[in-house]
Amino acid sequence: MAQGAPRGANGKDSMAVKEDNRAGAASGGKAISDAKIEDAFRTIIKWIGEDPDRDGLIETPDRMVRAYREYFAGYEEDPEEVLRKTFTEVDGYDEMIVLRGVTFESHCEHHIAPIIGRVWIGYIPNKRVVGISKLARVVEIFSKRLQIQERLTAQIANTVDEVLKPSGVAVVVKAAHHCMIDRGVRKRGADLVTSRMLGVFREQPETRHEFLTLVNADTTE
Ligand SMILES: [Zn+2]
Repeated sequence: MAQGAPRGANGKDSMAVKEDNRAGAASGGKAISDAKIEDAFRTIIKWIGEDPDRDGLIETPDRMVRAYREYFAGYEEDPEEVLRKTFTEVDGYDEMIVLRGVTFESHCEHHIAPIIGRVWIGYIPNKRVVGISKLARVVEIFSKRLQIQERLTAQIANTVDEVLKPSGVAVVVKAAHHCMIDRGVRKRGADLVTSRMLGVFREQPETRHEFLTLVNADTTE
């Protein structure tokens, strides 16, 4: 399943890979069954040094299959489609729209460890406006894939930019990486902050400043 990592700005390549898996092209003509994945999880449980047949663990491989389906549900949906369906023409509205601090849970592609964080999305519309819940859906879809935070940030910004064609888009992501907390360097309380600024947010320092002031107000309470 190493081929499941998203590539490209909009994640289209990774969706194509998932389709291939389902069609069986990537596994020699047979789609990968849930039973096969349960076996794999049983092997991991044994490797840890546990007995996969004891009462408390007997159902665990089945639960893990269902949990993984949730963790990685983002391959099933096209975030561009989510935005495209709902845009409306709103003549004259050209002020900044900001979705503040939407929470997300993702998994790093290096350790499949949780990445827990929040996202701020600002854009200045150019005729097209989208429901704020649709922006949250875009965050949800990209985060429910194997990720690195830098790409998650870029994918959200690029998708809003490509579909809504606004005057500018700004995205800030702040997140804690469990692969740093639970293992390796074991640093608690360290957040990784990433951002992507496009259009007027990149070109006009005062517009960028207005957005970043809102972000900082949310994180210094
Ligand atoms: Zn990691």
